[in-house]
Amino acid sequence: MRTLESARSEVLSSVELLDSEQVPIWEADGRILADDVFAPDDVPPFPNSAMDGFAVRSLDVGSPGSILEVLGDLPAGTVTEVEIGPGEALKIMTGAPMPAGADTVVKVEDTTSDGSKVVINTAVEAGTSVRPAGGDVVRGQLVFAKGTRLTPMHVGVLATIGLAHPEVAQRPKVAFMSTGDELAPPETAQLGPGAIRDSNRPMLKALLEETGVDLIDLGTVPDDPRLLRGALEQGSTADFLVSTGGVSMGDYDVTKLVLEDDARVGFWKIAIQPAKPFAFGRVGRALFFGLPGNPVSVLVSFEQFLRPALLASQGARAILRPQMVAVTTEDFDTDPEKTVFVRVVVEGLEEGMPRVTKSGSQSSNVLSAAAAADAFAVVPRGVGTIAKGGSVTIEMFKWPASREWVDGR
Ligand code: AMP
Ligand code: MG
Repeated sequence: MRTLESARSEVLSSVELLDSEQVPIWEADGRILADDVFAPDDVPPFPNSAMDGFAVRSLDVGSPGSILEVLGDLPAGTVTEVEIGPGEALKIMTGAPMPAGADTVVKVEDTTSDGSKVVINTAVEAGTSVRPAGGDVVRGQLVFAKGTRLTPMHVGVLATIGLAHPEVAQRPKVAFMSTGDELAPPETAQLGPGAIRDSNRPMLKALLEETGVDLIDLGTVPDDPRLLRGALEQGSTADFLVSTGGVSMGDYDVTKLVLEDDARVGFWKIAIQPAKPFAFGRVGRALFFGLPGNPVSVLVSFEQFLRPALLASQGARAILRPQMVAVTTEDFDTDPEKTVFVRVVVEGLEEGMPRVTKSGSQSSNVLSAAAAADAFAVVPRGVGTIAKGGSVTIEMFKWPASREWVDGR
């Protein structure tokens, strides 16, 4: 049996870096930068007012009560030739460029004005409410490193520096299918005898979409070698080819029957729970991931192997979920021979550490308990039991939807 770590490093070492392309920033969210981004200019490009108020010389406002002559007003987006001299002020709006001579802005709340004169009601320090050029980004600086996965905020910064077409990794093309004679479409109202609805394929599609890929849906494939070969053939030109089911020891594990003599595909047993059986290799030009059939195993395989590989293929720097140390509210009794991914709810704090509780049944077919979970509590191989109150590393595959988990409000 392979360990989690050796299986993952074997998977990652087979991943090839995809080419890059330019995309409009309007479509750049979630994409991964293929180049370092440097700032061509300062942001902001000029010193400007942080407040609606009056641009003044700090020498004139060192003590409260000074009365200044108002030379005019300056909205954002306008420049002025007016230079502020002793005893003078210019009404200025947030974002307007500082006029020559002025080094300070007094916010309107600290003033009284009749339009031609302004009384400064407080003492104001030099430089107050002025945003310097380059206060956000300095010309020439590294703004974002290659391998950064863009968030909406990154997109905003790229816009502000004028990088309207960032160079990003191409999105992997991922062909996916579920397999199994027992599977009925989710739309099925009345299930036939022995049938279940296919939960893997919709879940897998959603997991892939969340990761950011181009999808090729190969459908639900029956346990028929001829049909399966056809589907594999169809997916073989993608970057990644993913199936669920049919990779363990059963007589009808057709994925295994069809691919087990293929020297380019390995049928692995990984010392993890759930998701022990796993097929990996190449089918055509596609990197092939044969995930197990049980839905929770699909989630674990996806999280531990497929998602990191998809991100690595785009050169992402962060390919694994964030981890934290948590405290258990109950005993976790697991198989010491395996690294066990306990599905847990994260709720409340104990001495500053998040508390975790099993989200329900830990059987690999019980997807509802995985849906209720926020994280995997990872019990490493060789540990087995973590007693109530013990600490455990958690991997957040989802964050709680509200802040209730911290303070109970
Ligand atoms: P298999 O490895 O194909 O024998 O599948 C293991 C278990 O997972 C069986 O109980 C299957 O019925 C179940 N299973 C396989 N594929 C799916 C699917 N797409 N949706 C829900 N359950 C599945
Ligand atoms: Mg099956």
